[in-house]
Amino acid sequence: MDYIRTEADGQLTLAQSTEFLILPSCLYGFNNTETTVETAKSGRLVYCHKGTLDLPEEERICTCGRRMHINSHPDIYIRHLCIGGNLSVLSFPHNQLRCPECGATKSQYISFKSAGHFITDALHQYTCDLLARGTYTNKQVAEITGLGENTVMFFGSSRYSITFISSRTSMTK
Ligand SMILES: [Zn+2]
Repeated sequence: MDYIRTEADGQLTLAQSTEFLILPSCLYGFNNTETTVETAKSGRLVYCHKGTLDLPEEERICTCGRRMHINSHPDIYIRHLCIGGNLSVLSFPHNQLRCPECGATKSQYISFKSAGHFITDALHQYTCDLLARGTYTNKQVAEITGLGENTVMFFGSSRYSITFISSRTSMTK
């Protein structure tokens, strides 16, 4: 796989192999079709990995047995692990399904998305691992992960409540 950078829109195009690595992503079902380099409001560079997400046929079967239609597919943006000091985001059309028989609707399942947040499980786990070390402030974790301080604080508070519950459980033994 070879890429070069075109001047026009920052898009990375297949051409030479000297500047790129091919890495395992563990983003099951995601097909990266192009990557652009953009700049965030903060001034940090963002690798924007665009592509598509596989829609398995079995996921299209409604509980009533009919095959669901794709009602719409708005682009979704999911923050992923930083690469050095640069941010990265995945972007793909997120299928919204509707059953023509019973009218049931659902969003396509994204196996690598952290529940309740527009970030990957990998980024969520990394953030929690940094917090668990206990040597970084929320502000430092936010800087390293590229997440907002409020999000980091939220993950930190869920972790502390788990720690609190487990230590209380062990005390009653
Ligand atoms: Zn149905």
